[in-house]
Amino acid sequence: MPKITKDFIPVSQKKQRPGFRMNPKYITVHNTANSNKGADAEMHSRYLHNGAGGRTVGWHFTVDDKEIYQHLPTNENGWHAGDGNGNGNMKSIGIEICENSDGDFDKAVKNAQWLIKKLMKKHNISISNVVPHKHWTGKNCPRLLLGMWETFKDGIRNSKSTSIRESTKPSSKKYHSIVDYLKARGIDSSFNNRKRLAAKYGIKNYRGTASQNVALLNKLQRGSTVSSKPKSFKPGQRVTLKRSAVKYATGQHIPPRYLGKTYTIQQAKSDRVLLKELYSWVYKNDVQ
Ligand SMILES: [Zn+2]
Repeated sequence: MPKITKDFIPVSQKKQRPGFRMNPKYITVHNTANSNKGADAEMHSRYLHNGAGGRTVGWHFTVDDKEIYQHLPTNENGWHAGDGNGNGNMKSIGIEICENSDGDFDKAVKNAQWLIKKLMKKHNISISNVVPHKHWTGKNCPRLLLGMWETFKDGIRNSKSTSIRESTKPSSKKYHSIVDYLKARGIDSSFNNRKRLAAKYGIKNYRGTASQNVALLNKLQRGSTVSSKPKSFKPGQRVTLKRSAVKYATGQHIPPRYLGKTYTIQQAKSDRVLLKELYSWVYKNDVQ
């Protein structure tokens, strides 16, 4: 059961979020046609948030082998079907399935089938209205599924619909349990990982006792709520991403190869900065 992260494109980005009201009657399936390593759901979310290279394009969900990102609410239209003001753009939910070469495509397809079944139920859409992008414009998309479209639809019919785990981006909410705090950030909350974090934050001989957990929680919350002690970062400023950084401010892991390097600040908010070269938000605490 994949996790759905709602990470909506700001309404001000009209090219990616046109904002016309929609009562969805169809679901349109796409492939990203991007087999590059790392071209996963999170990367496509960043792509849209960063203006999609100036293109007028936007869709509702991107699915990879591990997770699902939602970029638009399902009661607003997107630009993904290529049919102008036709039903593809104005009445269908657009789903991109990732094909990054470092991902498991079959698993991504299974996750998409699960999502589609859930959306069909929610919006009362029949399987005959689940269509490939090709249906609207003749485009060869989803390129990896057109040859097995009926099998793909069988997979939707047979998909197990289980309860939904949804999350929104971590907020600055105060948590009373270390496990809840970590889970909300998508961080491994196992004993071993808590032990590793405890060592990093100077808590010796971590055994998972209540007092150690409280101490660790306090240290972590202090660490990530820099807003109380704002550092001043300005767009254009060059900063180094600390080697101790673990996660982006949006919750995903930072690949180690990005650490210890210098980047340009594109935008700054109270607790985070947008690094231009990475198209990613990181906590101010994690740069210097
Ligand atoms: Zn397409």
